[in-house]
Amino acid sequence: MARYTGPVCKLCRREGQKLFLKGTKCYTEKCPVERRQYPPGQHGPAQARRRKQSDYALQLREKQKVKRMYGLLERQFRNLFDTAAREEGVTGENLLVRLETRLDNVIFRLGLASSRNQARQLVRHRHVEVNGGVVDIPSYRVKPGDDIALRTASRELALVDEALESRNRPGTVEWLTLDEKKRVARMVRRPTRDDISAEIQEQLIVELYSK
Ligand code: SF4
Repeated sequence: MARYTGPVCKLCRREGQKLFLKGTKCYTEKCPVERRQYPPGQHGPAQARRRKQSDYALQLREKQKVKRMYGLLERQFRNLFDTAAREEGVTGENLLVRLETRLDNVIFRLGLASSRNQARQLVRHRHVEVNGGVVDIPSYRVKPGDDIALRTASRELALVDEALESRNRPGTVEWLTLDEKKRVARMVRRPTRDDISAEIQEQLIVELYSK
């Protein structure tokens, strides 16, 4: 599946906040968002000074932010939204739960990778097992009760050690449990809206796609 391969720090600066796309550098003062708080490009500082944004611009920016945060391209994101809209319940919440339960995101949330990109690579390179079988599809949907583990030969990978040892990594979430020593985890329940970053305004995405 295609993915964005351009410079990632630009994406964070465009959205005006950290999207944690680059691993351990994101947790240091070298992060460009901390040093240059305006969008990239020649007109970036002028854009930052402009105060009022239209409703459409706000909706578009929110969609772009979430899409980039989870490392999806437009087509994948739109398909996920359409699936979420067909499900029972609140579309925005369904969308966020679907994003959170992707296998690459679960590996990131567990702290076994320092970015979703790195987590995606671990999955693609067949380092990850779900319920005892290798799964190499980053979009695989993890369900409550599923056991997630690194393959025996992959448990000592330096990048996993580094990710786990990173003091600033996001804390392990409540809907997942992890045995750090054995590198085995379980999804104990479905995540709820309260488990997911409050900084996301999913209703703006629903409004954008409902036009
Ligand atoms: Fe770059 Fe990470 Fe900072 Fe984003 S959060 S600007 S990816 S270093």
